[in-house]
Amino acid sequence: MTARLLDGVPIAEEILAGVRRDAAALTAAGRPPRLAALLIGHAASSEVYIRNQKKACEESGIGFELRALEATASEPEVLAAVRALNVEPGVTGIILHQPFPPHIDERRVREALNPARDVESMTPHNFGRLVMGQFEIAPSTASAALEIARREHPDMTGLEVTIVGHSEIVGKPLALLLLQTPRSSPTVTVCHISTRDLAFHTRRADLVFVAAGVPGLLQAGMVRPGATVIDIGINRVKGPDGKSRIVGDAAPDVVSVAGALTPVPGGVGPVTVAVLLRNTVRLAQGPARA
Ligand code: NAD
Repeated sequence: MTARLLDGVPIAEEILAGVRRDAAALTAAGRPPRLAALLIGHAASSEVYIRNQKKACEESGIGFELRALEATASEPEVLAAVRALNVEPGVTGIILHQPFPPHIDERRVREALNPARDVESMTPHNFGRLVMGQFEIAPSTASAALEIARREHPDMTGLEVTIVGHSEIVGKPLALLLLQTPRSSPTVTVCHISTRDLAFHTRRADLVFVAAGVPGLLQAGMVRPGATVIDIGINRVKGPDGKSRIVGDAAPDVVSVAGALTPVPGGVGPVTVAVLLRNTVRLAQGPARA
């Protein structure tokens, strides 16, 4: 069997078409959407992500501004930058680029963020609303992974789903999103670094999400024939030719066992950027949006 590749680009395009329409309507109404990104230090991965975000915003009619602080910025300086963005006129969404330098307490910074501008739904307030099923937007990577999976499995009732990774930005919100519907949810298993027998959990799943940041972690023998695999991992590795390239968390041989698989790059990544822009527009529309 060779898995069907689940191309994220047309899904992203579909989402972005709606974003462009909504952004144009907001701008015409005098409320243009604007995303502010806070970056501390110079992580190469964040810089690439920010470049892509800026380009995607510009192409969609969304304003973009980068607030960059030195890696040596103190926690009070970082908190002051967040509080300034919280009230800056014209800013409708704020994204905090992680990882932060080790001397900065991530949680304290997230707690300082204005929940009404929290485009990644990471404040305790918005995360709590996600737990309770009362949310307008959700973390973009988790939403994007689910959006792709739903096209393969429109009805997930009773499906066995395994998530590899339990971070607050991907694994945990994804589990919560999958458990939203009281009577038609899948059965969700969440694995992590301390899981004793990872293959046992992945092999019995109809649908596997893998977001560990470990290239090749999910191997063909760990996947049930015909299962759907959503590979969220983005890892930069050196190929045999010495050139650096991007790979996911699924090993190349998974394609010969899975029924459907997201490629890396080109799967979850482009959909994540599109969802981030959709979240920005939704925040600009406000809670009273139709
Ligand atoms: P993280 O480091 O915060 O969390 C990693 C998770 O994987 C943890 O729960 C950890 O326990 C688990 N894990 C690590 N090694 C494991 C192992 N050997 N066995 C089982 N579980 C293991 O990472 P994150 O921020 O959640 O990101 C995960 C991956 O997703 C990374 O590759 C990241 O680059 C990628 N990512 C992709 C997008 C996207 O748009 N596609 C967005 C964000 C993150």
